[in-house]
Amino acid sequence: MSIQLIEHVNVDTSSDDITTIKIYTNKNLEKIPQIHHIPKQILFDIKVVSLVLPFRVNNYVLSELIDWKKVPNDPMFQLTFPNKDMLTSEHYEEIACAIRQNSSKPALDNIIKRIRTTLNPHPAGQLEKNIPMVDDKYLDGIQHKYDQTVLFFPAAGQTCHSYCTFCFRWAQFIDDYDLKIAAKEVEELMHYLRDKPFITDVLITGGDPMVMKARYIKAYLEPFLSEELDHIKNIRIGTKSLSFWPQRFVSDADADDLLELFKRVKEKGKNIALMAHYNHFKELDTPVAVQAIKRIQSTGVTIRSQGPLLKHINDDVETWAKLWQKQIALGIVPYYMFVERDTGAKKYFEVPLYKAWSIYQQAIQKVGGLSRTVRGPSMSTDPGKVEVLGTNKVNGEKVFILRFIQARDPDWAYRPFFAKYSETATWLNDLKPLEGNTFFFEQVMKVSSMYNRDMNRSK
Ligand SMILES: *Cc1c(COP(=O)(O)O)cnc(C)c1O
Ligand code: SF4
Repeated sequence: MSIQLIEHVNVDTSSDDITTIKIYTNKNLEKIPQIHHIPKQILFDIKVVSLVLPFRVNNYVLSELIDWKKVPNDPMFQLTFPNKDMLTSEHYEEIACAIRQNSSKPALDNIIKRIRTTLNPHPAGQLEKNIPMVDDKYLDGIQHKYDQTVLFFPAAGQTCHSYCTFCFRWAQFIDDYDLKIAAKEVEELMHYLRDKPFITDVLITGGDPMVMKARYIKAYLEPFLSEELDHIKNIRIGTKSLSFWPQRFVSDADADDLLELFKRVKEKGKNIALMAHYNHFKELDTPVAVQAIKRIQSTGVTIRSQGPLLKHINDDVETWAKLWQKQIALGIVPYYMFVERDTGAKKYFEVPLYKAWSIYQQAIQKVGGLSRTVRGPSMSTDPGKVEVLGTNKVNGEKVFILRFIQARDPDWAYRPFFAKYSETATWLNDLKPLEGNTFFFEQVMKVSSMYNRDMNRSK
């Protein structure tokens, strides 16, 4: 099928209209109406860095979310505009030099390609271990790591209404076909799910599946209504559209069709949960964002929220407390606080684990029980999702207490374990076990793929 992405929308000419999406990238950066708010040097930095890290921002983010008086420190600006410190100074200089010297395009492309490969485009063993194999063939648009839940990446949903500067999915946006994790056909997914009754959840993700037209979303959702997929009870959709383009559910030409579709799938007995990605309470403050939430909820679809803790964007107690309070007041269920993962501009955004936990623990004190459904800080690592439960002392020695929320081996989950305390650790692989040289899960992690090993699991 031919797929219509958001690039094809009409370009509108009046600058204040925020019902028609206008996309800006490093190719038309100069056309951004607010460009005069960006100092010249920062503008050059944006050009340099956006050659390596994906950059895309739309008119709604520009005019409604970014506070231009606070640029460059404004959190929404940091969320969407790349800056110099997101690359190492060597990488930055290399590209800046090539631009100043007017290097040829192939020469520049080579530099960019080499730098990108150093940025860990596919963290946590995503490519090698989680993509299932059927009849000796990898199913490209599917990842299956935890028993109950299959991740599905529809080919047409591998972009977003705007890009986050920290995004670990950036490897998929860049047109480098070898790295693309994209679905060939929805049939492949159905085929994979058909005879596996232990799978109850499908998480449709991207990019952002909500960039698709309603008729494509329908093509992906309707097969779940068939009898042979009766065991799929929950369809989750990961999206940042409620922040980056809430018009998707309000004024886009097919907004009503989309809501109608949600309603019908719900009525046929499937639970739909929108897993909304939020980084800051500002994303909940505009009238159209609130309207979108209400319209979605009116279809019976529930909204849960998740997002990473990021330096320069939301690394303080007040921001999280306020984010959760606002979400609860709008009927959104706080779900995960993530630790920024080991890819892309991680160095720029990372927060030490002890501090991440401290922010979580202090923010949770400020909110009522309804917000305390949020788990975290959680790291999505190769062996599983690891939550930092806190710090304490064991026999006089300071420790981290951790647990798996999800694990390659289901029996690892929810068993607290210890690691030596560290003030510099930002990720699981910076941690050392309290006793011995290896964590219990490292001893069995030699297995190359859980689902190729154990396809007949019957739980
Ligand atoms: C996070 C994640 C899921 C979903 O986990 P939940 O705890 O059910 O939200 C599923 N698959 C993978 C690979 C994940 O990283
Ligand atoms: S919306 Fe999600 S997938 Fe898109 S750039 Fe942001 S984090 Fe990445």
